[in-house]
Amino acid sequence: MTYTSLQSPAQKDFPYSLRIAHLYGNLMNTYGDNGNILMMKYVAEKLGAHVTVDIVSIGDEFDDTAYNLVFFGGGQDYEQSIVAKDLPQKHDAIERYIQNDGVILAICGGFQLLGQYYVQANGEKINGIGVMGHYTLNQQNNRYIGDIKIHNDEFDETYYGFENHQGRTFLSDDEKPLGKVVYGNGNNKEDGGEGVHYKNVFGSYFHGPILSRNANLAYRLVTTALKNKYGKDIKLPSYEDILSAETPEEYSDVKSKAEFQ
Ligand code: GLN
Repeated sequence: MTYTSLQSPAQKDFPYSLRIAHLYGNLMNTYGDNGNILMMKYVAEKLGAHVTVDIVSIGDEFDDTAYNLVFFGGGQDYEQSIVAKDLPQKHDAIERYIQNDGVILAICGGFQLLGQYYVQANGEKINGIGVMGHYTLNQQNNRYIGDIKIHNDEFDETYYGFENHQGRTFLSDDEKPLGKVVYGNGNNKEDGGEGVHYKNVFGSYFHGPILSRNANLAYRLVTTALKNKYGKDIKLPSYEDILSAETPEEYSDVKSKAEFQ
C-alpha cells in the first residue's frame, strides 16, 4: 500500500504544495539515493512549497495525476529483478506522466529500468518498463566506479558526482544525454554521454546523492514541477537568493582538488 514517508511541517504557512512519488523507495535505494528526496524537499520548502513524499512500491497503483515529482533510485541487480516484475502494471500511468511533462529523476538502476531492457552482470536480460528508448548491456568483469564531472550545454551547467555501475547504457535517437563527460566513464565509455534528458525526465548514473551535490539541478527539477502545477509565470525566488552558496566550486570538484594535493 502507498504510504507517506516524509512531510513538511503542517504549522508553517506554505503558498504552494508538491507531492513526490518515491518509486520503489523501500527497494531501490543504494548509496544514499534517499538524499535526493531530502534535497528536493529542502529546495521545495525554500521555494515556499509544502512537500509530501509517498513510497509507491510493489503492487501499488501509481496515480499519475496525484504527483508533481517522481524519484526512482538505484538498486542492485537482485532488487532490480524484483522491481522489473511489477513494472508492467505501472507502464501506462508512468508513460502518461512522462508525456504530460511530469518531472522525474531516475538514478542508475531506476534510469536503466525506465528504458527497454537491462542485461545484468550474470548475463540475464530483464525488461525495463519500456517508456523510454534507451537500453543497457552488461560488461565482463568490470564496473565503472569513480568521480565524474559532466557539462550540460543546453543549460550551461556542470554536474559533479560519483558513478558506480556495471551496466552500459545506450540512448535512443530522441534522447539526449544529461551531459557530456568531462572526466569519468558515463553511460558506456564510448559515446561521451552521461545520463539522459528527455522532456522533463532526468536520468543519471550519479550517486552520492546527485542533488545535494548539484543544487543547480535540484533547483531546476523543483521549479519545473512548480511551474507545471501553478503556471510558468509564477514568481519564485531565484537560485542565487536561496541556493547559490550551497555548492561552491571548490567543494564540488573533488578530482581537480585532489590533483593539487
Ligand atoms: N545494478 C545496476 C548496475 O550495476 C545498477 C547499480 C546501481 O543502481 N548502482 O549497473
